[in-house]
Order: sequence, then C-alpha cells, then structure tokens
Amino acid sequence: MKIDENKDFLTDLLFPKFCFNCGKEGNYLCPDCFALIDVLEYQFCLVCGKRVIDGKTCLRCRPKTRLDGFYFAVSYQNKLIKKLISQFKYKPFIKDLSKTLASLIITHFYLSNKFVFFTSEKSILVSVPLNRKKLKLRGFNQSEEIARELSQSLEIPLVKQGLIKIKNTRAQIELSKEQRKENIRGAFLCRDEKQIKNKKIFLVDDVFTTGATMEECAKVLKSAGAREVWAITVAKE
Ligand SMILES: [Zn+2]
Ligand SMILES: [Zn+2]
Repeated sequence: MKIDENKDFLTDLLFPKFCFNCGKEGNYLCPDCFALIDVLEYQFCLVCGKRVIDGKTCLRCRPKTRLDGFYFAVSYQNKLIKKLISQFKYKPFIKDLSKTLASLIITHFYLSNKFVFFTSEKSILVSVPLNRKKLKLRGFNQSEEIARELSQSLEIPLVKQGLIKIKNTRAQIELSKEQRKENIRGAFLCRDEKQIKNKKIFLVDDVFTTGATMEECAKVLKSAGAREVWAITVAKE
C-alpha cells in the first residue's frame, strides 16, 4: 500500500462515504448506481445538436462559434447528475466529487473510443476560471478540479490559470441568452500567451448551458494564438 492509499484508507475510516443514490457505504456513487447513468457513446455538434463524427463542430455551424468541437458525457436532465453537480458546486461543496464527475467524462471517451485525440504533444487542458470572491466562498474552482483529474487520466498537461477572471459577473443562471453574452464579455484574460500559442486546447467546465462562457473563453484563447479550442464538460443542459 502506498502512502497515498494509506491516507485514503484512514480518511475513509474516519469519514465514510455513502452513495448519493442508494446510500450504500464506500463511494459517493457506487458502481451499481454509476451503471444506471446513461453515458453518451457519441458526440453532438455544440451549435445545432446533430450527431457529428469526433465531436467536430459541423461545417455549417462553424461561422457561429469559435469552438472547434465539443465532448460531454451526460445530459443535465439526468436527476442524479444534477444532484452530484449540485453537491459539488454548492453546499456541502464536496471537492472529492471531481473524481466521480471526471470518471464520467473518461467513460464517455472510452465508450466512443476517442483517446486518440488526446495524445498530441500540443494538447493542453485549461479550466474555466472563477473570480476570487466565488473561489473564496467555495474554496476551490470546480472546473479546475475536474481538469486536474482529466490531466492525470489523459496524461495531458493542465495549464493552471491559463485564463483568469478579471470581472465580477452576475450569476449566468439568472440571465437570458443575450444577457449572458453581455454579462460575460471581457470577463477573461490570458496572462501568459506563450503557454497558449499554437496549442490545441481542451477547455474544461462542469456544465454547458448556452455556451456563452465557453465562447468568451475561446475568443480570448484564440486571440492569444490557440490553434484550436475544444470544450469538455460533464453535462449539457
Ligand atoms: Zn448506489
Ligand atoms: Zn452544427
């Protein structure tokens, strides 16, 4: 047993985990309940929703987005997913759920046989940033936690603070689609363009709703010289 595993073993003894769905002890989501989640086997265009090969934004939709492609693991309509994400992002802020959520994304790659896309040397992961106030409240950036897990599994470097948030924005959830775009405009900055230039970027967030946030991030990354920007989220609304 490695030291890390030993520590996990002790933590589990002191703070046992229970499955959110069935209450069984051992995991936040036990293998039986994990198997109940319908992880997608295909990719869909992030603009028109049509099934596409390898997640690439379809030709007709290209003028409408700066995102080159999109991967998401599950539908946000799934009640269990909603519950998991809410326990992660809102109280009680269970940081460890990043592992469960990232494993849904990995399962999606596995089911659709897409690991080949993540092996290029030029690939990096960047997470959607939070402003300082939110970071302080939650204690962690949920997107960065998921990205960190993906970085380990996919063996792609995570560029921390590849983007930073420089504007306090209103919660997107209260706003209409047009207001969301306006609200998020100018909110992000890339401080170190060297890390971004010519890279294929996998931009990580928890949920894709209207895409306004990811579009704005992609705009900043592309003006910093990113070759491609792909979105990766656990769920899509
Ligand atoms: Zn269960
Ligand atoms: Zn399309």
